[in-house]
Amino acid sequence: MDSLQQKPSLTCANCGSVNVSISHVRSAFWQDDRLVVVEDIPALVCGACAEQFYDDTTVVGLDLLRGEGFPAEKARTALNVPVFSFGDRAAAKSGP
Ligand SMILES: [Zn+2]
Repeated sequence: MDSLQQKPSLTCANCGSVNVSISHVRSAFWQDDRLVVVEDIPALVCGACAEQFYDDTTVVGLDLLRGEGFPAEKARTALNVPVFSFGDRAAAKSGP
């Protein structure tokens, strides 16, 4: 079989479905002890298994952002993020 023709590779890496569409998502990244959120990431989302993945261009773009250290002055806005400890939950559960 000659399948060297380049197709747009919109195939799910997880289940192989071609029911993949582009959706703009928001994702969180850890930069050392700092949590940053990136919005409007063009992600490929599988309609069959809901797997979310990025194409090479997007991965490179995210790597560049990470390489810049997510400079605060470039942030569009900031979020207050509540932080929970799973240990607190376990402690609260004690007793009948
Ligand atoms: Zn899939």
